[in-house]
Amino acid sequence: MKRRWLLWLLFGVVPTAFVPTLLGQATMTTIRTNGPTSARINLVYLAEGYTTVQLPQFLVDVTNTMNKLLTIPPWSSYSNYFNVFAISVASVQSGSDHYTPTTNLVNTYFNSTFDSYGTQRLLTIPPNDRDGNYNDGYGKVVALLQQFVPEYDVAGLIVNDTVYGGSGGQYLLASVNSASGEIANHEIGHTFAKLGDEYSTAYPGYPDVEEPNTTTNATRGVKWNDWILPATLVPTPDVSSNYTVEGVFEGAHYHATGWYRPKHDCKMRTLGVAYCEVCAQELVLSYYNALRPIQAKSPAATNFFFGGPGTMAAFNIAILKPPTNSLAVQWFTNGVAVGFATTTNFAITAAQLAPGTTNEVKVVVHDATGYVRTDPTSKLWQTNIWRQFVMGAPAITNPRWTGTNFTLAVASVAGFNYVLEFKNTLTDPSWTAIQTNPGTGGSVALTNTGPVGSNRFYHVRVQP
Ligand SMILES: [Zn+2]
Repeated sequence: MKRRWLLWLLFGVVPTAFVPTLLGQATMTTIRTNGPTSARINLVYLAEGYTTVQLPQFLVDVTNTMNKLLTIPPWSSYSNYFNVFAISVASVQSGSDHYTPTTNLVNTYFNSTFDSYGTQRLLTIPPNDRDGNYNDGYGKVVALLQQFVPEYDVAGLIVNDTVYGGSGGQYLLASVNSASGEIANHEIGHTFAKLGDEYSTAYPGYPDVEEPNTTTNATRGVKWNDWILPATLVPTPDVSSNYTVEGVFEGAHYHATGWYRPKHDCKMRTLGVAYCEVCAQELVLSYYNALRPIQAKSPAATNFFFGGPGTMAAFNIAILKPPTNSLAVQWFTNGVAVGFATTTNFAITAAQLAPGTTNEVKVVVHDATGYVRTDPTSKLWQTNIWRQFVMGAPAITNPRWTGTNFTLAVASVAGFNYVLEFKNTLTDPSWTAIQTNPGTGGSVALTNTGPVGSNRFYHVRVQP
């Protein structure tokens, strides 16, 4: 039940300046929190077709929907990556518009309707073929999300109507039919991971554009070949002996022939079954597209000093460990992996590094989950690099007078600044800065161009 691209094609140009009114009654409830919105994947559901007295039921419906979602793989394996919020806004009337078998129109907040584009179960909000006004539907969703959860990652509407229906797209919609949890779990595959429908039911006019789990390529070169055993025939006969293996099965993307899917069955084909391995992989990649596993790091700055030979520098990262598998951690110095440095803490002494120059400390975090075999853009990897300057005092060369100016040079390191400072007597409590120049990796000149007066003492300070 996906009509995202069609909606985009039909209504690709939408006004953005509109600010809906009638926001006064909306409230937000936190259904589930695992951390700050800036560091989690934020799922947001909005109430459609709930009257004021029905809004408590909306919170129950969201809770039930989320409980179903976060207990099925792969969502269950990353359940602590998610926050869930509910935005309650009352509709004047209950339910949603219907045109079959008889026309029954109700006054709801987002003006949702079944029977979109001639399909009864296709449940959408404007702009659509029933109401072309963006401000009646999408515009209100955008405004509420901006008001309450601007850091949302996935948003959807729970539609208080017991008829079976839903849609994916920019925002997913799911009715409160007895299958509502399953509808939402199917539609979120579209909305969050851009998965396609794997069923064959014709949908004339739908763009024939491949999704991660649909293809016209019935060869070993198929994009999910990492999941296909060498012994499996391609294309793959859809017979019971192949029901549990990945392959290239004909029938997908609203076509019975010429289009292919990765497995005999999948939640993107049939409600109530598990996501196939390829769809689960795309979901996990989407999690890491929205969330980075390194949640905090110390030192916070990329460039910093490291003192003399006896000193020690400590590094630390906080990572978001999923509930059922660990994240691999490896520390490196100057590109070389350090043995047994595989925890979130790392320490090094200056003596282990080259003095008077920058050294690089790197940590790499990787989720080696079995859900993912193909990760072309390394979404399951995260790297953090620190560059540290190991102090030996910066070497001052060629101090001299040039006319009335006093000038000197220092051997510099790129990425750090060099500050010429003076005192008139060594008993002065502080140094006064004269000139700051960035390091180049070579010799950098520093000059006192102002009046010098009597004796001055100079030094050069290095700062990140
Ligand atoms: Zn699938």
